[in-house]
Amino acid sequence: MRFADLGLGPEVLKAVEEAGYLEPTPIQAQAIPHILMGRDVLGTAQTGTGKTAGFTLPMIEILAAGRAKARMPRSLIIEPTRELADQVARNFETYGKFHKLSMALLIGGVGMAEQEKRLDRGVDVLIVTPGRLLDMIERGKVMLTGVKILVIDEADRMMDMGFMPDVQKIVSYLPPIRQTLFFSATMPPEMRRLADSFLTNPKEVAVAPQATAAATVEQAILYISAGDKREALRQLLRAENVRNAIVFCNRKRDVNLLHKSLLKHGLNTAELHGDMAQSARMATLEKFKNGEISMLVASDVAARGLDVQGLSHVFNFDVPIHAEDYVHRIGRTGRAGQSGHAFTLATPAERKYVTAIEEMLGKPIPTIQLDAIAPPAPEEEEAAEARGGRRKRPARAKSEKAETEKAARPRRGRREKAAQPVMAALPEQTVPVEPPHAPVPRTAEAKKRPAKSRPEPRHQRRDEDGDERPVIGLGDHVPAFLMRPVPLRG
Ligand code: AMP
Repeated sequence: MRFADLGLGPEVLKAVEEAGYLEPTPIQAQAIPHILMGRDVLGTAQTGTGKTAGFTLPMIEILAAGRAKARMPRSLIIEPTRELADQVARNFETYGKFHKLSMALLIGGVGMAEQEKRLDRGVDVLIVTPGRLLDMIERGKVMLTGVKILVIDEADRMMDMGFMPDVQKIVSYLPPIRQTLFFSATMPPEMRRLADSFLTNPKEVAVAPQATAAATVEQAILYISAGDKREALRQLLRAENVRNAIVFCNRKRDVNLLHKSLLKHGLNTAELHGDMAQSARMATLEKFKNGEISMLVASDVAARGLDVQGLSHVFNFDVPIHAEDYVHRIGRTGRAGQSGHAFTLATPAERKYVTAIEEMLGKPIPTIQLDAIAPPAPEEEEAAEARGGRRKRPARAKSEKAETEKAARPRRGRREKAAQPVMAALPEQTVPVEPPHAPVPRTAEAKKRPAKSRPEPRHQRRDEDGDERPVIGLGDHVPAFLMRPVPLRG
């Protein structure tokens, strides 16, 4: 399949060629012809599949005809995070360079004067995060009645972050006759039902089975005591051939603490989380992308949208609480067919999250051990088990040894290569990494247990970093009977 076979015009084809793409990715090949025909699309695709170009290329084509009116955007793209919104805007700039489309970006945390001016002049494409758009609607700065194409991107993330009520409210301001493109990395039944409420007779396209990790990412997990995590991370950084890496923590305060600790050890790191000003976030990302910074300590806000060419490693300093976040985190590496490595540090207390991830992936993640770091103490294991975690894995069977040693050979090869920038600051030291253990078969009892990918309720309000936001009073969920007018007596 060639781009020229998809129905795109010569200007878009030229921009695609200049971007260096040789052929459409599967999601592009499946979605673009249907979008060009005006169909609604329900897409199951994660970032890294080329999904953004999958909707921006045909949108540029469709929007090329027609003109925008003041404050009435012709198309609307809703993104869960500022980074993603910014990335989509860059896609429009790259692929729309031979068109004269106008665009505005309404995202939280940045000055809006320039974007408001653009809106006033009329835009073809409006890219938003939900909160900022609602704010602008309420202030009468934008009207959505002229929107012909709506894109709801990364819908599962939006749901996790508690944005769906806002998205539904935004959609209620749109004309019912429109084209809607709905993308989500996962499509569980509840998401499907929600999608159906936005879409009309959609063409369904899917490029990866539900929540699968890219085959190009080599994964490993290391069980250790909580107090050994920092040392274990440093040892992995020494032992692995790390070119550039993202280290994920679950909480932003931990992002900050770990970042400071790594800086103290002379590592070239920066932090990225939702409490930083947008300008600082963008500047940090830019430095990471251009190689000035080789390691980013980040919260999940960076797991989506972040597209760094050739990222060699992802480290999960904490096991993500939501299983899907694991796939998104490790999906930052191993992109566009390149190989990548993902290491997860897990304490016995986090074993329950690992179980949920493995059940979602449908296979266990190979375990490794570092020679210099002891496995968790039995008391820690027992305490975690008492709190509902799973017991320590049984030791490997002897017959599996030969197989695992074979699997370990390329890893040794990598360690022998020259030191890379990330570890250059750490004292030279060879830390033997034990080969990945062969997958431990799950017990019959574990298989019977229902998949538990969401240990926390979905409806909980969270901020960008996944930290819980306190819900005051009844929060967003005021029961309908309280809203009904009281009938007057007499
Ligand atoms: P996305 O899934 O939209 O985040 O895209 C992931 C990466 O794939 C981005 O760096 C795109 O520039 C790149 N990309 C998109 N389409 C293609 C293509 N047809 N061939 C090669 N790379 C692509």
